[in-house]
Order: sequence, then structure tokens, then C-alpha cells
Amino acid sequence: MDSTLDIAHASPEELAALHADLRAQHRDLVAANLSLDLTRGKPAPAQLDLSSALLDLPGDGNYRAPDGTDARNYGGLTGLPEVRAVWGEVFNVPGAQLIEGGNSSLALMHDVVVNAVLHGTGDGELAWGGQQISFLCPVPGYDRHFTILEGLGITMIPVPLLADGPDMTVVKDLVAADPQIKGIWCIPKYSNPSGSVYSDEVVAELASMPTAATDFRIFWDNAYAVHHLTEEAVELADILATCEAAGNPERAYIFGSTSKITLAGSGLSFFGGSAKNVAWLQKFLFCRTIGPDKINELRHLAFLPDAAAVTDLMARHRAVIAPKFDMMLRILAENLAGSGVATWTTPKGGYFISLEVPDGCASRVVALAKEAGIALTPAGATFPYGKDPKDSNIRLAPTFPSLADLEKATQGLTVCVLLGAVEKQLT
Ligand code: PLP
Repeated sequence: MDSTLDIAHASPEELAALHADLRAQHRDLVAANLSLDLTRGKPAPAQLDLSSALLDLPGDGNYRAPDGTDARNYGGLTGLPEVRAVWGEVFNVPGAQLIEGGNSSLALMHDVVVNAVLHGTGDGELAWGGQQISFLCPVPGYDRHFTILEGLGITMIPVPLLADGPDMTVVKDLVAADPQIKGIWCIPKYSNPSGSVYSDEVVAELASMPTAATDFRIFWDNAYAVHHLTEEAVELADILATCEAAGNPERAYIFGSTSKITLAGSGLSFFGGSAKNVAWLQKFLFCRTIGPDKINELRHLAFLPDAAAVTDLMARHRAVIAPKFDMMLRILAENLAGSGVATWTTPKGGYFISLEVPDGCASRVVALAKEAGIALTPAGATFPYGKDPKDSNIRLAPTFPSLADLEKATQGLTVCVLLGAVEKQLT
């Protein structure tokens, strides 16, 4: 295959030859009966092994919190102060303004939206339920954020996500004009799936922009706060302090978890915000639970006693997954760079690569890959309602497969991208 052929400018003869070649390669892939998966933004087993020590912690007899509390018993609605202090440093929130809330930050996000729908945000405004409200959704984005809103009948308005955050010209115009726009999803660092990192300017604008809704909220999902893939530990501006300085102290709800730091299904999750917002959530948490799993908190405290221990562990994660990203990026470049039909992101952290194929081709590429035994995230998943208006974005998740599987899957994927693009060019 001539991987340097510029498909958009190829002659009909060149295209026909390339098409025949790619069809043959695709047939070989189908015949190989592969079963490969690039869909899952999950830690690999080797990453989970890094936290195996947790399985033996806190250890027989070690059930006392630093202040003597018996962690086996009920109590302590917001989590152990020592745990909140460590993770407050990681997520840039004062420990007293951080709640530990169980094994899933997504569950906390769901709780927060549901509580605002049922009760309002505590600003003296109406509950969000009973009104037709909307959220801004930077795209491409995280499908599970969209699922929360869709389930509650909240209208989703896509806004473009650029390399340094959402397109603020679009965002500012929309929120200034429409009092029914109540929120925006933000994955501010190493965004899922594009790897975008919000610049200080974007953070400042989000914090200070005039909004027609007085109960407007930024849902700041800092899921990849410490998930660096390079030497550079990219910095993110302090959203809480920036909102406060801008005179909007209640604007940001902050979320994070240890899901991709320790054990994805058995970690700790966090909600942070202004003292007022924390008290607001606490009131509803009181109705839902007597308290979080303090034994799991103790286990994490023994394993990761301070932010420096978290940094150390993340360096070990990086050693496992950076070679996977490097391999995928190398194969994409070798096989697609000269074709003129695909672009992709080169993230400095996080779990994903975002691939753009020609308009109208993403579903076809995903279908071709499926025929070849390579599972890709469904086309459209990165957009509200599962609908990518251009049908061009595909989310790639290199972390879970072994290097050998990843190599086969990425080689196969590039055949499908080229075949999909040539088919389109021929129609
Ligand atoms: N937020 C983002 C942006 C994610 O990508 C993910 C998982 O992929 C989650 C949240 C899930 O977080 P948790 O495991 O804490 O529920």
C-alpha cells in the first residue's frame, strides 16, 4: 500500500488501485478472526497491579483513623479529614471543602444534577425540574456526562472544544442570552477524548463571564488531574479561587476520583466547591447515607499518605501506558499522515486519542473495523444524543490492550480508515 498517497488529490486510476489493495487487506483482516478492543478507557491489568497492596490494607487490627475514630463503624458523612487533606491538595480544593463520596465520581455528578433538579442549587432560584433547562456540552466529550442529562430530559447544546478549552466566544454569547442554560460540562485537563487542557484565559473567562442564569454552574470534572503522559506535569488554573476572585464563588462544582489512580472499581471519589455548595450537598447526602466507606479511606491513606506518593504512583502508571500511546501515534503517523484523510490528537495526558476522519465516514470506519474483529467506540458516542453531526469523530482508547494487541488493532484500524475514505472518494 502506498501510505503516502494523498487520497483527496489522487487520480481515478490511483484510487482504484488503492481501493483494490485496501479491500484485499481488509479481507485478510477479516480472515484473521481478530478479537481486539479499542473502546475501553480502562486501566490495564498491569496498572491495577501497581495498587495491589491495597488488597492487604489497612490490615488486621488497623481500623483506627488518625484521630482514634473506629473506621469500622457508622459515621463521618464527609469522609476522614486526613484523606480529604491529601486529595484536596491533588484536586486543588481546601480539604474542608472536599467531600469523599464513595467509589464513583460519576455517581456524585449524577447526585448533584438530580439534587439541583429536585431542589435547586440553594441560590434562592427555582428547582431545575419543571423548567426546560439546558447544559452546554463541549464536543467531543464524555458520553456518560451526556447520559446523565438525557435521562433527566435536560437539553444538551453542543459547543466546540478547542485545544485550550471550549470556544469561549460561543459559550459567552449563549450563557449571556439564555437564563435556561444552567450548566456546562468541563473536563479541564487531558479532556476525554481530545486531551485538551483549559488555558488560564479560558478558566478566567468561565469564572467571570456574565450568565443570564444566576444559578449557572460549571461541572468541573477533573478526572485526569494527575494523569500525565509526558515529563511535563501540565498545570491547570485554580477554578475555585478564580471563581471567587471573579465574584462568582458558587459557580464551580468540582469532581475527581482515584478510579484511574488506584483500583478503578474500588477507589475514592470527591466533590469540592465553596463552603456553601459543600453544605448544600451535605444536606442531601445526609438523606442518602450514614457515611462513606472509611475502611477504604484508611486503606488509601496508608497506601497514598500524601500528594507526593500520588505523584510517584502516577509516574509508574505513565511507564505502563505512555509506550501504548507512543505506539498508536507512531502507527497512525506511518499509515495515515500522507493520506490527507485523517487527523488525530497527541495528548499530554489522560486516556484517549481523538481521531477525525472525513465527514460522513466515522460510522463506516467503525463498521469496517467491526467486520475485522476490532471493536471501536460507536461513532457519535462523543456527542450529545449519540449524534455526531459530521459523523467524523472516533475515540480511541489505547490503555487496556496489551502492546501486541494494540499494534494489531491500530494497524487494522488504519486500513479501515483508508478504506472508508477511499470508498467515500469513489462515490
Ligand atoms: N469522568 C471522566 C471524564 C471519565 O473519563 C470517567 C471515566 O472514564 C469518569 C468520570 C468516571 O469516573 P468515576 O470512575 O470516578 O465514576
